[in-house]
Amino acid sequence: MENFAEHYGSLYQTVNRCLPGIDMARIDQAVEYAREKHKEQKRKDGSPYIIHPLSVAEIVAEMGLDVDAILGALLHDCIEDTDASHEEIARLFGTTCAELVEGVTKLTRANFASSEEAQMENLRKMFMAMSKDIRVVLIKIADRLHNMRTMQYQTPEKQLIKCRETMDIYAPLAHRLGMQKVKWELEDCSLRYLDPTAYNDILSYLSAHKEKDEAFMHTIQDAISQRLTAMGIHSSVYGRVKHVYSIYRKMGAQSKNMDEIYDIYAFRVIVDTIPDCYNVLGHIHDLFNLVPGRFKDYISTPKPNMYQSLHTTVIGTQGIPFEVQIRTWEMHETAEYGIAAHWKYKQGAGEGQEKDFEWVRRLLENQQDTDAEDYVSSMKIDMFDDEVFTFTPKGKIVPLPAEATPIDFAYAIHSGVGNSMVGAKVNNRIANIDMTLKNGDIVEVLTSKAAKGPSRDWLSICKSNQARTKIKQWFKKEKREENVIHGRSSFEGEMRRIGLPLSITVDPEVGPGLLKKLSFDSWEDMYAAIGYGGLTATKAVGRIRDDINRALKAQNSEKQALQVKPEETKTDRHGVNGVIVEDIESCMIKFAKCCTPVPGDGIIGFITKGFGVSVHRIDCPNAQNRDEPHQAARWVRVRWANSEDQPFETTLELDCITRDDLLLDVATVMSTARVRMKELNGKDLPGGRTVFTVRFEVKNVEELESVRNKLQNIRNVIGSRRGQN
Ligand code: MN
Repeated sequence: MENFAEHYGSLYQTVNRCLPGIDMARIDQAVEYAREKHKEQKRKDGSPYIIHPLSVAEIVAEMGLDVDAILGALLHDCIEDTDASHEEIARLFGTTCAELVEGVTKLTRANFASSEEAQMENLRKMFMAMSKDIRVVLIKIADRLHNMRTMQYQTPEKQLIKCRETMDIYAPLAHRLGMQKVKWELEDCSLRYLDPTAYNDILSYLSAHKEKDEAFMHTIQDAISQRLTAMGIHSSVYGRVKHVYSIYRKMGAQSKNMDEIYDIYAFRVIVDTIPDCYNVLGHIHDLFNLVPGRFKDYISTPKPNMYQSLHTTVIGTQGIPFEVQIRTWEMHETAEYGIAAHWKYKQGAGEGQEKDFEWVRRLLENQQDTDAEDYVSSMKIDMFDDEVFTFTPKGKIVPLPAEATPIDFAYAIHSGVGNSMVGAKVNNRIANIDMTLKNGDIVEVLTSKAAKGPSRDWLSICKSNQARTKIKQWFKKEKREENVIHGRSSFEGEMRRIGLPLSITVDPEVGPGLLKKLSFDSWEDMYAAIGYGGLTATKAVGRIRDDINRALKAQNSEKQALQVKPEETKTDRHGVNGVIVEDIESCMIKFAKCCTPVPGDGIIGFITKGFGVSVHRIDCPNAQNRDEPHQAARWVRVRWANSEDQPFETTLELDCITRDDLLLDVATVMSTARVRMKELNGKDLPGGRTVFTVRFEVKNVEELESVRNKLQNIRNVIGSRRGQN
């Protein structure tokens, strides 16, 4: 129990020193609470468990964190290891404290054991993202630091796992948060178990040279102090041998042994003001010989982790190079405790939480470490709100934008996985593919070879650009025909909505100009683009709207100039496909497939959604419901165009298996059928298919069908369909 009293006394002193005047009663209460909860537990070394939280709380107090964080540190293992609950802690110690404990518990439960190198940065990001409150990270780092200090009691396997994890996660995080002192200690503790031979070699080298080192450091320290005192600059000068891991790293990087490593000494001059820093620099360069290219001014350009100092490397009369760091006291505190020190100032200034987090986020986002010597190279963290970290069932981390869904997850794995997705399991339960994923969710994508590919709705459900792009690509590639139909329908809908005639697009005078403006070679291409989502109908119409209005205006004034018997013009106007729709100036016409009306039949038109007017025979079964109220408005009167001899134009599309001379055979059939051919196009499709589009004139449907039969008889023609004009 003495052990307890000793540690408690030490914590008491540290708290009083670092946070003078705080309410010790709350601290005492938390100590008692934690002691009671952990009373059955022992540390690996046999000491009472409470020693651990006491030590962690002391480290947290040294970092300069507030009372809530110290309480959180004292209670940090209570939820995980004892019967304490979040509610109870909140009731006794406040919600902030309870949330900190909860946050630390979450990090304790998460498995950050190292896997592949590529995953390390993601693990660090996830660590940050899971924490929400930066104090959680700091308590967790303090927790790890104490565990590293007492690592000798762990089994060798556990030592290796913990040390690897410390090197991969905790030391880089401490560095990023600007906590040099903590980082060094974590690194040295880890190296002791990860490479004990090298660690011991370096230690024994250092201790063998200890006297020499100290003598050298004294000489330099004295030389600097004397000069500065003489110049009236108030300063503190310290010398040290760099930490073990940094020497180890230099040996590795330069493949040298201890004797060949120079630059193991570092001196620190701490002064009161920034002008003093630069003055000191001048004196250092005057006293010793400068090593060129080693001067760095982190005062005018601080490191992203807020570190500020002047660095220079010089050589004294002994021929040994050493580094000198010059900084103010405030810079020194920041260098030692990094973000924690800054956080303390912020708290002191009474600033709100959110501002702090904003600041942390900025710090981490702007992280661009240009110091080549730094172990952790530049790595960007998008933390807290804009990313979520999920796992594959095998434990690979998949970072996604916030609010991502299983769809985003699937496409992040591979576009093939996304395209064949039929469902998802989240944390082993069947989930909707549009559910919002949370940090740590394990997602399994269910795929099927029979999957029909992504649905268009997915485009609005998914949150990542990656998924959106891949879905669009799929539609672009796989579904051209469907895209054309969808695209055409939305384009025409938009045209109608703002009252522009659809006929204008096929107007030989105007149409080509419009296409050019839209940068497409054909209307079909544009419809396809709208269909797969590469362009919106609103945008497309918006781009040509002015041109259309201008053209319409011009046409109107032309018409007025001619002005010959308007009634006659009306009756004489050309039908589309030989059909005139009453009351509608111009619109697309198609013949209903159900009843194939031919000239002479009684006909009636139905305004379809997006395809103009569909013409049925008046006795067609599908036209019998035209009096029903919700349908009535869509039925319109139509009639055959005036002249019965006037040919009407039609289009057939032929599906063929590609072979040579098909085009020739089609042309031959058309010519022997004695119909007037207007257009013949062939297009090869993937999979050995060819589609021919034949536009020609016939008098009526019988003639059309006879031509169609002849075409169908051509070898390799496997199907035909009526196209839309
Ligand atoms: Mn702990």
